[in-house]
Amino acid sequence: MFKAFLIKYAEIGIKGKNRHLFEDALVHQIKFSLKKCEGRFYVHKTQGRIFVEAESEFDFDEVVARLKQVFGIWGICPVVYAEDEGFEKLAETVVNYIDRVYPDKNKTFKVQARRARKDYPKESMEINADLGEVLLNAFPEMTVDVHEPDILLNVEIREKIYIYSEIIPGPGGMPVGTGGKAMLLLSGGIDSPVAGYMIAKRGVKIDAVYFHAPPYTSDRAKQKVVDLARIVSRYTGPIYLHVINFTDIQLYIHEKCPHEELTIIMRRYMMRIAEHLARENDCLGLITGESIGQVASQTMASLVCTNEVCELPVYRPLIGFDKQEIVEVAEKIGTFETSILPFEDCCTIFVAKHPVTKPNLKIIRRHEQNLSEKIDELVKTALETNELIIVE
Ligand code: ATP
Ligand code: MG
Repeated sequence: MFKAFLIKYAEIGIKGKNRHLFEDALVHQIKFSLKKCEGRFYVHKTQGRIFVEAESEFDFDEVVARLKQVFGIWGICPVVYAEDEGFEKLAETVVNYIDRVYPDKNKTFKVQARRARKDYPKESMEINADLGEVLLNAFPEMTVDVHEPDILLNVEIREKIYIYSEIIPGPGGMPVGTGGKAMLLLSGGIDSPVAGYMIAKRGVKIDAVYFHAPPYTSDRAKQKVVDLARIVSRYTGPIYLHVINFTDIQLYIHEKCPHEELTIIMRRYMMRIAEHLARENDCLGLITGESIGQVASQTMASLVCTNEVCELPVYRPLIGFDKQEIVEVAEKIGTFETSILPFEDCCTIFVAKHPVTKPNLKIIRRHEQNLSEKIDELVKTALETNELIIVE
């Protein structure tokens, strides 16, 4: 019965002169997300609203599920069309609509008509009153409430007549691409996919880097990261995933530095390499899944040490989240099941029994000097052997 969707957007409506850029980005993202759905769709904007019109048969649930993943969408309104064939016919369509969409008629309603073309013979107020009367006659249980109706029935007179009342909540946020691009440090854990999702929600396009340490981390661990990137890409669009072979760097740190400082020094090299890749790929920041105090390498003192090596801003959207709160988002966005698969990521292999929780920056810097002989060469090789996987 539904032939189209009216897309409501909240925040991007207030962007003043740049508004059309946001709308165009949203149209683009919607088109992209519907490519994977059965059916053909015409996505366009007219008079400050975006419509998705089906040009063929389609699977309603599939399309709604897709649209719920497009940042920038505040609400999705399924629309029924009526041809402009006189008021009688319109009244019949509206009665039919209410009957099907609301099996329980014990509801209040309000009709809200809008004429986008002024040659329609009735004025909006008149349409409201006349359709209201038709509905009251058809469904005696229903009553009118003009202030807080259960059903706000929109009737828009355009080329065709659009009828809609339901609003399915979208994910909110801003259309991806309107906020620049950032490099996500993506591990196989629970946190970093959620961190990427949260920054993408603000309109930021995502590139990603994974530090792989074969044979200490398995192919399955790498595949798991690719799978996570794929799930995140449902929301963000294609993700360019850089896989850096980190084994030699890790072994070298293991050989030359105190074991309780391994994680911190290793994380400093991850950040350096990620920043290098970020700059090469026009990213304006880094993203990690860190949260204060979650593990030894995420105490405030540890964050001083990992933060120090980058100049670009490091976005840590989970910084104030408890684990349980992160898990809730992971479940909502569909990454949790994959994240908890048991293949070790490279952090779990080289962990010290008693990692420092209050690393001293001066001491860390001094111990990093132990690496001076070979580390630049190793970093260079790691960057040169970077494997790029385009995930979508
Ligand atoms: P996650 O659940 O995201 O793996 P975590 O709680 O295991 O996080 P750490 O292992 O301390 O935390 O890593 C902190 C952050 O560093 C991660 O959220 C991620 O952004 C980044 N990171 C850690 N290991 C890797 C890796 N192998 N490749 C890419 N990024 C990594
Ligand atoms: Mg981890």
